[in-house]
Amino acid sequence: MMTRVRVLTLNAALGPLDYRVPPGLEGDVLPGSIVEVPLGPRRIIGVVWDQERLPDDSEVPDAKLRPIFAALPVPPIPAPLRRLVEWVADYYMAPLAAVLRMAMPAGVAVGERVITEYRLSDTSPARLTPQRAQALERIGEFQASVSELAEKAEVSVAVIRGLIKAGALEAIETSADAPYPAPLPTHAAPSLNGEQHAAANRIIQAVDAQQFQTFLLDGVTGSGKTEVYFEGIAQAVRTGGQVLVLLPEIALTQPFLKRFEARFGVAPTPWHSGLKQSERRRAWSAVARGQAQVVVGARSALFLPFPQLSLLVVDEAHETSFKQEDGVRYHARDVAVMRGKFEECPVVLATATPALETRHQVSLGRYEEIKLAARFGGAQLPEITGIDLLETPPDRQRWIAPPLVAAIDETFEKGEQALLFLNRRGYAPLTLCRHCGYRIQCPHCTSWMVEHKITHRLACHHCGHVMPSPRACPECKEEDALVACGPGVERIADEAKALFPQARTAIVTSDTLWSPEKVAEFVASVEAGAVDIIIGTQLVTKGYHFPNLTLVGVIDADLGLEGGDLRAAERCFQQISQVAGRAGRATKPGRVLIQTRMMGAGVIKALLSGDAERFYAAEAESRRHAEAPPYGRYAAIIVSSESADAAAETARRLGRAAPQRDGLHVYGPAPAPLAQLRGRWRHRLLVHAARTTNVQGVIQHWLGSVNWPTSVRVNVDIDPYSF
Ligand code: ADP
Ligand code: ZN
Repeated sequence: MMTRVRVLTLNAALGPLDYRVPPGLEGDVLPGSIVEVPLGPRRIIGVVWDQERLPDDSEVPDAKLRPIFAALPVPPIPAPLRRLVEWVADYYMAPLAAVLRMAMPAGVAVGERVITEYRLSDTSPARLTPQRAQALERIGEFQASVSELAEKAEVSVAVIRGLIKAGALEAIETSADAPYPAPLPTHAAPSLNGEQHAAANRIIQAVDAQQFQTFLLDGVTGSGKTEVYFEGIAQAVRTGGQVLVLLPEIALTQPFLKRFEARFGVAPTPWHSGLKQSERRRAWSAVARGQAQVVVGARSALFLPFPQLSLLVVDEAHETSFKQEDGVRYHARDVAVMRGKFEECPVVLATATPALETRHQVSLGRYEEIKLAARFGGAQLPEITGIDLLETPPDRQRWIAPPLVAAIDETFEKGEQALLFLNRRGYAPLTLCRHCGYRIQCPHCTSWMVEHKITHRLACHHCGHVMPSPRACPECKEEDALVACGPGVERIADEAKALFPQARTAIVTSDTLWSPEKVAEFVASVEAGAVDIIIGTQLVTKGYHFPNLTLVGVIDADLGLEGGDLRAAERCFQQISQVAGRAGRATKPGRVLIQTRMMGAGVIKALLSGDAERFYAAEAESRRHAEAPPYGRYAAIIVSSESADAAAETARRLGRAAPQRDGLHVYGPAPAPLAQLRGRWRHRLLVHAARTTNVQGVIQHWLGSVNWPTSVRVNVDIDPYSF
């Protein structure tokens, strides 16, 4: 019988704490149980952890231990998830508590089993202050918690409470334990073609076997990967298991939910940062009870407490947005594979353009590749042609070259749709004073302010700082001297409108598609034929299936190739292959025109010839030569502070104490690529090591040997993406 237990709290500053289990609670307190414990005068929440897996540094004798108050009436955090939390903390060098917080986000694990929300009632308050009037107007149809209503209405919580008291808002109670309807495996099962059938069978087999196995579902765009892994989901549901599907972008979930519903008769359970508190609580609770069978979510869904996970799918597995860039810096694709390992269930990585790392795992025999070589229904892959901007340049202050203009014209004449791709939000990436040469820069970051015409503002794409577009130069005060340099999607849209005044255009970026409703509206208008030319950023490269879209124009293929990024060529190849994959997905053939100044570059040649294998082989060879991932590994140490001197000094100190050993090299310190970000000055040290080196151990030891002031933050990024 357990009388002394070790509890992990959600506070990274606290170590594990020991408590006594009072009589009567013994049966409820097991490893994984969520408990309420005293800490000084406070009550806090924690999770009972496996004693043997946490260092025993508690010296408190049994007799002096304080008792646990209560075990919450929610299922315990399952053992495989506890193992995952430990693994993520170890591998990514993050505090256990910080990782545990991802498994138990604020407010989801509470004793109260009823969720109370408020909405407008029929009663108007006797006293109507301006604040109250504002709240009533902005709340509209919205129903949410007190704090969410306050945020939405931009008033204080006290105003909302006052309105509740006055009877103007009424309480709506729902059970936190309301289950989600079960998907119906046979609702609208498609008939698969031969290739799909074989692929689906392999996944179904693995679901039945319930052993850990990672698959790379590698099928060209439009080959029907989704239909294939849907069969795996159907099998998991049939056998009473749970499924998690990870998507890279919240904007993608809406069309996906609809597609899932068409196939399974009910929508899956969504999980992402845009959910309301009540939705989060209900979803978390239903997952924990095994009553949410299929969850579709962003990377944070990886830490949900599934008791019987039987299949994990990572869709668009090549996407770099699976890498989390703040807080705990983890890669969701890699963590998904680890979760599958701890759960002993299959993991499917679906993509048309696998990451080199993933292909490497296949070549080592660790992952099994399932290939779909042809588009579904006989649709042909689009024909891809290059436009050499050095030979046929666009006019001055224009970005669409004559051959692309002609192609758009033909497409428009035929009543078909075109998509222009440029991975840059806003109107122009740089605003320059013609008179004095001044460039408008973000006051908090080393980056230019980007002009957004739609909102009449300049915005920093790194920290979100915005300012009104000035009329005069902020430096020399000259009027009308500011000029926009270079194009963003808004500027391309203006150009398209000028070239084709009859055409209806739609801009697709995170600025225009910022809510599920906006995405649904956009999809509906394209499907209804109400849009002729779509102009978009990487947001349009994935997921969408528009049968009448037959032309894709890439405005600037060289854009991503300029930086010194390790994965620049690979990312360029993936992005352009994906956007090309939007063309000609149904009966009408598609074509793709790529504007470039680098016709000779390997990646452009590969795109034009459609020879992916050759590109990957060349890319792998150059990585092997440089001992870059997947052959070697990197870790970045980012030192940052609001004080430039403190950051630089700490970075120098770390540099002097850098470990010297075989198979490991430390570069830097040097100013980070973004030397200032959100007001903090940043320096970077880059560790390059052989695959077999225990970099975490080396870094731990190294950082432990150096001191720095509390104003300085030192973050470790294992397998960094941007450097
Ligand atoms: P991918 O994810 O590989 O790009 P999708 O799964 O989106 O491909 O499939 C492309 C299109 O073909 C979708 O409209 C899909 O509904 C359709 N499709 C694929 N397989 C089938 C099938 N077996 N029966 C009917 N439609 C299918
Ligand atoms: Zn900024």
